[in-house]
Amino acid sequence: MSTNTKNEGSEGSEGSEANDTDGLLSGRREVDEESQTLKKERRNLILGFLVIFMILIMLLGTLIGIIMIFPNYHVPIIYSNGTHTFRSTVLLISFDGFRADYLNRNATPYISEFINNGIKAEYMRPSFPSNTFPNHYTIVTGLYPESHGIIDNVFYDTVLNDTFYYTDPKRSFDSKWWGGEPVIKDGQKSGVSQWVGSSSVIKGISPTYHYPFNLSLTTQEKVSQVMNWLDLPFDERPTFLATYTNQVDSAGHTFGPDSLMEINEALFQVDNFVREMMAGLAKRNLTDIVNVSDHGMTTSIPDKIINLENYINISKVYPVVGYPLAEIRPYLDSEIQNIYTDLKNASIGQSWDCYKSDEIPSKYHFSTNTSSSISSPRIAPIYCLPPLGGGFINNRDFENETIPNGTHGYDNYLSDMRAIFLASEVYNIISRILHLCPVPNNGTLVVVEVVMVEVVVIELIVVIAMIVMIVMIGLIELIALIVGSLQYR
Ligand SMILES: [Zn+2]
Repeated sequence: MSTNTKNEGSEGSEGSEANDTDGLLSGRREVDEESQTLKKERRNLILGFLVIFMILIMLLGTLIGIIMIFPNYHVPIIYSNGTHTFRSTVLLISFDGFRADYLNRNATPYISEFINNGIKAEYMRPSFPSNTFPNHYTIVTGLYPESHGIIDNVFYDTVLNDTFYYTDPKRSFDSKWWGGEPVIKDGQKSGVSQWVGSSSVIKGISPTYHYPFNLSLTTQEKVSQVMNWLDLPFDERPTFLATYTNQVDSAGHTFGPDSLMEINEALFQVDNFVREMMAGLAKRNLTDIVNVSDHGMTTSIPDKIINLENYINISKVYPVVGYPLAEIRPYLDSEIQNIYTDLKNASIGQSWDCYKSDEIPSKYHFSTNTSSSISSPRIAPIYCLPPLGGGFINNRDFENETIPNGTHGYDNYLSDMRAIFLASEVYNIISRILHLCPVPNNGTLVVVEVVMVEVVVIELIVVIAMIVMIVMIGLIELIALIVGSLQYR
């Protein structure tokens, strides 16, 4: 046992015990061998715990890494309606051009019934400008038009050197126009019929199931589309569904919002649509519907039409778009100030006003001075806002146009532009119902944080559980060490 000499406490006794008997020596060896075994066992024990400890640390590191890489990690919640299991599902219905006060016309009994059983706010203020494309896309992105880039139904982009036309799918479907992220994401399936933007691939994502815009579809066909999606097998069924109706908007433009009979007929049609939809959902024990509209409508007033050619040389500007607003883009940047000054002077004492793009009042959230650069090349250098019912025309661009009896697109703070809504931030409500983690948006932060808190809590629980496990392993190791040293003594 050459190693004996190196044992602590045995070195001093080596020379002085030279005459020990064989029995004593063998006894001494037994004790040494026993302590050696104990030491080995203790070392193995520590080594074992150290290995387990290292594995746990690695697991924790991996987990933290996953959470950091996938911050939107969430646990999908599955419900049962008695016969089928389903994930939390929401149906979003748009009634284009449904002005908030149409609900007071006693023409929509089923929508009233829906309201009585649900949540209704007095109105939803559309985004500026109060037009269809900007607002439908705002509803599903939670972003102001200045942030998502669809700043109007028609607009020119100086960087793309191209014009967005809402009625020309070949142009408007191109991904290059669409900023922001629609609510369809996070690996959940979606079924979208005719929603603005749903025919485009946006950030590499498009709806799982989709029907393009089609004015000839009946309300019954739209109900069938939704029910067919809801009846798909569990793993194929979409959890976000959206559909669209145009009747109220069309009647409003053609006959004006004050034409009781025609508007009421359109209201009756969409009310029937809601009745059929609610019946279909009730059969399936599903109830989550969000009803919205994109803007209101006002009666056109011919006396309030303003001809820009009375004030500026129209040949110096690109075709003027944005009716009833005027989005004015001079061919030469050097002309901006002159044209603006002419218009500003002309507007003194009038019921209309003009702004340079960097002076548009902040309440409109329509600025080129935003962190999102997408709208900067799209917002025209000069914007003119007409009085309610009026609009800006010019002889060149309006040669063959007729002014509709009903118009929208005005200052979004005017009461006639008010839309209907169930909640103030539809996007956040949808995200919450679907347990998505919303991307940053222009909604109130509180609602976003509630959803974020759910995600953070799940992550915290996992991390705390790992820490508790590690502490327990540490304690076991400590106890093992104490027991080991006691045995050695
Ligand atoms: Zn619309």
